[in-house]
Amino acid sequence: MKKLGFGMMRLPETVSDEEKRVDLDAVCRMVDLFLERGFTYFDTAYFYHDRKSEIIVREALVKRHPRERFVLADKLPVSFLESENLKQEDVFEEQCQKCGVTYFDYYLLHNLNTEHYEIAERHDSFGFVSRLKAEGRVGKMGFSFHDTAEVLDRILTAHPEVDFVQLQLNYLDWESESVQSRLCYEICQKHGKPVIVMEPVRGGRLATLPKRAERLLKRARPEASAASWALRFAASRESVFMVLSGMSNMEQLSDNLSTMDPPAPMTPEEIALLEETVRIIYEDIAVACTGCRYCVEGCPKQIAIPDLFTLYNAAMQDREGDHTEQRAAYAELTQRGGKASDCIGCRACVKSCPQRIRIVEALKTVAKTLE
Ligand code: SF4
Ligand code: SF4
Repeated sequence: MKKLGFGMMRLPETVSDEEKRVDLDAVCRMVDLFLERGFTYFDTAYFYHDRKSEIIVREALVKRHPRERFVLADKLPVSFLESENLKQEDVFEEQCQKCGVTYFDYYLLHNLNTEHYEIAERHDSFGFVSRLKAEGRVGKMGFSFHDTAEVLDRILTAHPEVDFVQLQLNYLDWESESVQSRLCYEICQKHGKPVIVMEPVRGGRLATLPKRAERLLKRARPEASAASWALRFAASRESVFMVLSGMSNMEQLSDNLSTMDPPAPMTPEEIALLEETVRIIYEDIAVACTGCRYCVEGCPKQIAIPDLFTLYNAAMQDREGDHTEQRAAYAELTQRGGKASDCIGCRACVKSCPQRIRIVEALKTVAKTLE
């Protein structure tokens, strides 16, 4: 299997009647090109794209290509089993129906951390997926993970039956104290578990670098995009068998396909350049949000948290400026949802943030800068 997976979570969108819709025609063209070039792995989840990603998978992929030509991964929304009182058996059937399939090649417990792992244990979710596997309705069982290496070690020790782990792994988070990419990767190696990488480009953050970092990488590889460096870093790890990328247009897809067909291994000199790049990025970044949107659904004030952080980060790249452009965009955006200053500090968002961002405190700073 070629190592690039198509993440169906940042799909191209059109805006009509003030409503954002996934651009199905564009997705179909992207899916076709992906398959034509010999790539086969697609990744979706229950709540991607406001719970419509699985339907898009059905329309763009399943209805238009023979089932044996592609590999499909879906995820059990573990946290919803209690917050929305869902039964995992019903969720799985609903997912099969939405995707138009009878089985998933890969099936993951979604977003395990300390809290969600406890929910999974209370509902015997590992046992549930193992039974689906025995019935032939799931090929391989895994989980996506956002917590410390110590928690990961505990889960893999308790569940040796797991086939693989999906980790946030990229060069920015490799040595990060909160994400612990390297430490988590080493735990997977210790337990002999193959790794699927998510967020290799850190929610797009590593596709657009500060000018100084961009120049540094361009000197070494003039033709290579910033995103290609990030993909190659993830793909060059020995235990990584798949690198997911949430691609939003044909240009990103084409660039990723060229990079990953096959990915050139990284040299020690290139790794050193990426270490320097990390140093530059950390000097530049204000809020390390990846735009995953896990925090949005539970906010009682409908604050578009990641969109506000994107504007704030853009404003902070020009610290001396008056931020007129970002203030105007902020005013428009917050007409459709809550403002940063509407936050009541309930911390529902904080619990679901894999990056452990101090969202409540960060929103106060956003309000001061952009309101
Ligand atoms: S703490 Fe603020 S931003 Fe977070 S969910 Fe509550 S109201 Fe929304
Ligand atoms: S604040 Fe956290 S949960 Fe919300 S989009 Fe950013 S990284 Fe994801």
